[in-house]
Amino acid sequence: MMNPFYQRAHFLTAATQLHQAPADSGREVAFAGRSNAGKSSAINAICHQKALARTSKTPGRTQQLIFFELDAERRLVDLPGYGYAKVSEAVKLQWQQHLAHYLEARRSLMGLVIVMDIRHPLTDYDRQMLAWGLKGEMSLLLLLTKADKLKKGPAQAARLAVERAVASHADRVSVQLFSAPERQGVEAVQGWLDRWLEVPQDQD
Ligand code: GDP
Repeated sequence: MMNPFYQRAHFLTAATQLHQAPADSGREVAFAGRSNAGKSSAINAICHQKALARTSKTPGRTQQLIFFELDAERRLVDLPGYGYAKVSEAVKLQWQQHLAHYLEARRSLMGLVIVMDIRHPLTDYDRQMLAWGLKGEMSLLLLLTKADKLKKGPAQAARLAVERAVASHADRVSVQLFSAPERQGVEAVQGWLDRWLEVPQDQD
């Protein structure tokens, strides 16, 4: 079913430094994911749009935080997502400081969605994001995307394995199967976003 609230999402601004971000008021939910995990496809599916988040890599945008506005009080944020292995130590350090600063300092950040390819979950990148998210007070959702690449049994087994890995944080960390082309999990994710962003239900 179409959720018109998330379809409102539109590009607000891109920030290379936290001081370039929109005012830290209202509520926002950030999406993180290792490069190629399927983060852009997930954001587009959740917002019922074809090209809100870029599914092709654009050099120069990789280090930016991209803010999408839902309404005056609510935003989604696309975090930089390249994997550890492909970048230099200097870039890694810069990236880590940037992300860590955002995740620690941002008061309006209510939730963090970590998008992982179901076939390669909990990479070093994912574990780092999880650790930073747990340091703050936000809720976390581990989104196991490309679930359509596995049969049902192995997909459920992958979900259970990830749930077991984060069992000690089960009060704050949830796990969800997702597929952008099959739209599996879209409504479930919208449900989490509704709660974290306190979306008035009469707007749906
Ligand atoms: P990002 O780098 O994390 O933003 O990843 P993209 O959204 O650009 O996706 C990377 C590749 O995986 C693209 O070729 C997508 O078409 C593909 N992809 C993304 N999500 C899914 C999914 O749920 N199922 C399948 N089969 N492919 C997907």
